[in-house]
Amino acid sequence: MHTLDQPISYLKGVGPQRAELLLKELRLRTLGDVLLDFPFRYVDRTQVTKIADIQADSETVQLIGTLTTAKYEGHGRKKRLKAVLKDDTGSIELIWFRSISTIEKMIELQQRYVVFGKLGWFNHRPTIAHPEMESLEEFLHKNKAGLAPVYHSTETLTKRGIDIRIRRRMIRQLLDRLASSDIPETLPDYLIQKQRLMPRAEALRAIHLPTGPEQLRQARHRLKFEELFYLQLALLQRNQQRKDQEAGYKMRSDGPQLTGYLRDYIPFELTGAQKRVLREIADDLRSGYQMNRLLQGDVGSGKTMVSLLAILMAIDSGYQACLMAPTEILAQQHYHSFRESFASMGLTADFLSGSVKGKEREAVLDRLASGSSQLIIGTHALIEDPVTFHNLGLAITDEQHRFGVKQRARLWAKAKSGAPHILVMTATPIPRTLAMTSYGDLDVSVIDELPPGRKPVSTVHRRETQRASVIEFMHKEIAKGRQVYVVYPLIDESEKLDLQNLQEGYDQLLIYFPRPRFQLSVVHGRMKPQDKDLEMQRFAQGKTQILVATTVIEVGVNVPNASVMIIENAERFGLSQLHQLRGRVGRGAEQSYCILMSGYKLSDDAKKRIGTMCRTNDGFEIARVDLELRGPGSIHGTQQSGTVGLKIADLLEDGALLAHVRQIAKLITSKDPDLSHELNAPLRQYMQSHAEQLKNWSKIG
Ligand code: ADP
Ligand code: MG
Repeated sequence: MHTLDQPISYLKGVGPQRAELLLKELRLRTLGDVLLDFPFRYVDRTQVTKIADIQADSETVQLIGTLTTAKYEGHGRKKRLKAVLKDDTGSIELIWFRSISTIEKMIELQQRYVVFGKLGWFNHRPTIAHPEMESLEEFLHKNKAGLAPVYHSTETLTKRGIDIRIRRRMIRQLLDRLASSDIPETLPDYLIQKQRLMPRAEALRAIHLPTGPEQLRQARHRLKFEELFYLQLALLQRNQQRKDQEAGYKMRSDGPQLTGYLRDYIPFELTGAQKRVLREIADDLRSGYQMNRLLQGDVGSGKTMVSLLAILMAIDSGYQACLMAPTEILAQQHYHSFRESFASMGLTADFLSGSVKGKEREAVLDRLASGSSQLIIGTHALIEDPVTFHNLGLAITDEQHRFGVKQRARLWAKAKSGAPHILVMTATPIPRTLAMTSYGDLDVSVIDELPPGRKPVSTVHRRETQRASVIEFMHKEIAKGRQVYVVYPLIDESEKLDLQNLQEGYDQLLIYFPRPRFQLSVVHGRMKPQDKDLEMQRFAQGKTQILVATTVIEVGVNVPNASVMIIENAERFGLSQLHQLRGRVGRGAEQSYCILMSGYKLSDDAKKRIGTMCRTNDGFEIARVDLELRGPGSIHGTQQSGTVGLKIADLLEDGALLAHVRQIAKLITSKDPDLSHELNAPLRQYMQSHAEQLKNWSKIG
């Protein structure tokens, strides 16, 4: 058996019980697993603080002192263990709430300890709860390096006595036992030389027990490189394989419907970016390969027109198309905007959602199955079972982040034979580095230009005390013939309090904007779909001047005459949501405004979100800040994508490295697509032995 495949019970001090626990809690089965379980941080053992010098704002401290007393306090579930640590400048309390009898057995009075932990304050005195402790003797003996590894653990492990010291002992023992030849190199020699990477055996040693910060930096770099590189290689190969395997319907882009539409009906000139992405889509549709493309474009960049033109290509080629939207309102809006042009071109577009019932529904389903309607627009009702197509050739989803992998797969299954071309549209600007990973097997097109004449929305932050001037401003804009959105947060549609806020806001507006001179619409999630739609339509047709709404209007709604967006309790919205909402205005040629209303007390994050909105209109910049505030795992769709499965690379921090390794991976696959070159043997081997893992990694969100 290869050393790294040996079970962890081969380590001294790890008996069957501990082995089972480590397997259950951390999925550590073999010595190799232990080797690849990297520390998530390091304690700098050179930094020791005197107790009297503890700063109120330091998060963690490391102290050296003598344990003078230890006693129990409280009873039952409140029972806790308290000890006092003294150095020559003062004393500090250490406290344990859990596993206290185990702890009590482990600690010895009058011993000198090195104590590390998170600083807490109780009655203006510093305390440390559940500190990491090592006897000074042990510490001096084993931590010559200064940087001691800290591993992820679980409460159960700690409770059962498998603490940081045991974890460190395990890794030291393992590294002592391993010869360098036990740790195989996974990258070809030429890459290691050229990229000046630390050899793998050395890096794996150094990541656990670094001799200093510089060695640690190089080790981390090497391991991040490897991780991102193989991820990219797998994605590129998968792309290639998909193109090889999935024959796609071969379509044309010079048919009569498309050319007729471009000649007679199109209401404006396409922007340069729209033309470019349309070419990219047309190239895919003509290629004979199945398209899988993500169309990314900021709100208002004109994705709908691009989707319409792609649909006409499918129809010209004798196929049906479907356009799926995440909400009823958005689907309706698409339907209304497509229906007219379709009718005048002698084509049929249908609508389907949960609210289409009875005879009408049957008629729609019949037209789809027989092929007498060419386009169906709707909600997720489209992917439910009874819907069958005559010959679906192109499936488009708008605002894709609301659709999961499963739903897309079901849509896929609707095609008779082979797979329809897929176009996924999103206004959530995903930073390019993230798109490269989480959507790695989608090709990405970006509309990075807004239609001409758009003025950037001017955004301001206002407090409750400034409400009068906000009302005055609304009056001025309405007098110019403009319309105003007033949006309330509604995190959960069942939250009574939120609805009450909206109702009160609406009642207040009725006082400032009395009927019949002014007309107000109100839309929220508790209303019946028909009523919602009616109110939306009244606003869209200009019959009402103010729309008071919850976030139901967030996605896609298009009323170019609306020029003011007022967001109430703006501090409660996420950054991308604020950006989406603001995108509802600034769609016409008029100067538009976004007013973010908030209370006085704002968290740091809320301040940053609001400040960012006031500072920029750039969706990519906003996405970057959002990512910074929330971390990469939170971006839509990446949760299941495997990016969270990265062991050491960090997409936020390592964007530049990611782009770099992607270039290298591209170069290698273009020269040696099946990695058959002798020099690439290590790559081929790695890909084969990690096929399963890499497949999971590269699954799209
Ligand atoms: P989104 O990308 O957010 O879906 P839309 O497709 O709703 O954007 O387009 C926003 C608005 O811009 C619509 O009113 C649309 O008619 C208009 N529009 C789209 N493309 C152009 C263009 N090339 N020139 C002028 N207006 C355009
Ligand atoms: Mg849209």
